[in-house]
Amino acid sequence: MTASPDVIVVGARCAGSATAMLLARQGLDVLVLDRGQHGGDTVSTHALMRGGVLQLQRWGVLDRIVAAGTPPVRQAVFHYPGESVRITIKPAAGVDALYAPRRTVLDPALADAAAEAGADVRFGTGVTDLLRDDTRRVTGVVARDRAGRVLQATAPLTIGADGIRSTVADAVGAPVLRRARGSGGAFLYGHWDELPVDGYEWVYAPGTSAGLIPTNDGRTTVFVGTTPSRMKQVRSGASTFQVLDDLLRSASPSVADRVASARRPARLRGFAGTPGYLRKAWGPGWALVGDAGGFEDPLSTHGITDALRDAELLARAVHASREGTDGEQEAMAAYQAVRDGMADHLFDVVDTIASYSWTMPELRRLLLEATSAMSEQVERLERLDPAAVDA
Ligand SMILES: Cc1cc2nc3c(=O)[nH]c(=O)nc-3n(C[C@H](O)[C@H](O)[C@H](O)COP(=O)(O)OP(=O)(O)OC[C@H]3O[C@@H](n4cnc5c(N)ncnc54)[C@H](O)[C@@H]3O)c2cc1C
Repeated sequence: MTASPDVIVVGARCAGSATAMLLARQGLDVLVLDRGQHGGDTVSTHALMRGGVLQLQRWGVLDRIVAAGTPPVRQAVFHYPGESVRITIKPAAGVDALYAPRRTVLDPALADAAAEAGADVRFGTGVTDLLRDDTRRVTGVVARDRAGRVLQATAPLTIGADGIRSTVADAVGAPVLRRARGSGGAFLYGHWDELPVDGYEWVYAPGTSAGLIPTNDGRTTVFVGTTPSRMKQVRSGASTFQVLDDLLRSASPSVADRVASARRPARLRGFAGTPGYLRKAWGPGWALVGDAGGFEDPLSTHGITDALRDAELLARAVHASREGTDGEQEAMAAYQAVRDGMADHLFDVVDTIASYSWTMPELRRLLLEATSAMSEQVERLERLDPAAVDA
C-alpha cells in the first residue's frame, strides 16, 4: 500500500489529532496513523488548564467535551497540612471554566474533528520506520496495520505526535535540549464513584502530592504522587489501594477519609516516573509535537495543554511556510523558538516541584510561580492572531 499526502502525522491523541485537524482545515491532505484504537484509554489523568481549554474553545471542540457531560470546574482547593485554601477560577481569556475530560472523551473528539476536516485518520497502524532521501531529509514513513499489511507513505512533512517513546524522535535522533534534574514523580490513580468534589482539589505535604479531579460519568479521578523510591518502599507487599490510602492519609487524613468512604474502582493505574525533557522540535522533513517533543512531570497537569499549544504553533508555522511568509527553515525555527519561550519557565518550576525536596513555604512559592508561568502561556496564546490560520 502507498500514499502520498501533504503531511503525515504519527499519533492520533491530543497532540496528533489536534495538529491534523488544524492542518486539514488549512486544506492540506493529511494522513494520521496511530497504532492504538479510536477512543481507547491511556495512562494519564486529564485535568486541563486554561490554555488547553482556550484552544479547544477556539477550535470549536469544547462543545463536544461539554456535550459529553464533562463537569465544569470553577474553583480549586489547595489542601496543605493544617490548612485548605479555596481559589475561584475567574473567567479570563474567554474561558469561564476548566474541564477534565477522560482521554476516552477528549482524544476521540479531536480525532473526529480531524476526520471531519478531511484528514485520513487510521487507527491500528503502527509506524515502524522513516523514509529518507539522499540528503537524509525525512520523506515519509513505513507502517504496518493489524493485518500485517505494509504501508509506505511519502510526504514533504512527517510529524511525530507519538508520545514519550516517540518512534519519530528516536529515528531522527532528535537532540534533547533540556533535561529535568530529577527522576520525575511516580503516580497511582483511579476513577472513583460517589466522591463529591469542590472543583479541582490539590493536596500537598512534604514528599507527597495528590489530587481529586471531577470528570465524566459522575466520577472523580484520585491520584497520588511521590518520588519513585518512596513509591517503591510503600508498595512493597501492599496493595495499590493500600498504597494510595497510605500516601494520601500521610498528606491529608480528611481527604483520605472522603476517598475511603466513596466507591472505589476495580483497579488503579500506575506510572513509574520519567524525567522531563525538551527535544529539538524540527529538522529536515520532520517536526515533533506533544510529549514526543517535550515532557514535564505529570504533577504539572499541563501535558495535554502543552500538546494543544504545540499543535497550534506548528500549524501556524506550516501555514506561514506555505503562504511564503517564511521559508520552511525560518518557519520551523520560529515554531521551536515560540514553543521553548512558552515552555521554559514552567519546565523549570515543575522540575523543582517534582523533586519533592521542598519545605511547605518553598512549595507554596513554587506553586505561585507555576501559576504565573501558566498565565504567561495563556497570555501568549491569546495574543496569537486568529486571522492567521482561519479555515
Ligand atoms: C500519570 C500521568 C498523569 C497525567 N496527568 C495529566 C493531567 O492531569 N493533565 C495533563 O494535561 N496532562 C497529564 N499528563 C500528561 C499527558 O498524558 C501527556 O502530556 C499527553 O498524553 C501527551 O499527548 P500526546 O498526544 O503528545 O501523546 P500520547 O497521549 O502519548 O499519544 C501518543 C499516541 O501515539 C501513538 N503511537 C506511539 N507510537 C506510535 C507509532 N510508532 N506508530 C503509530 N502510533 C504511535 C500511541 O498509540 C498514542 O495514541 C499525565 C501523564 C501521566 C503519565
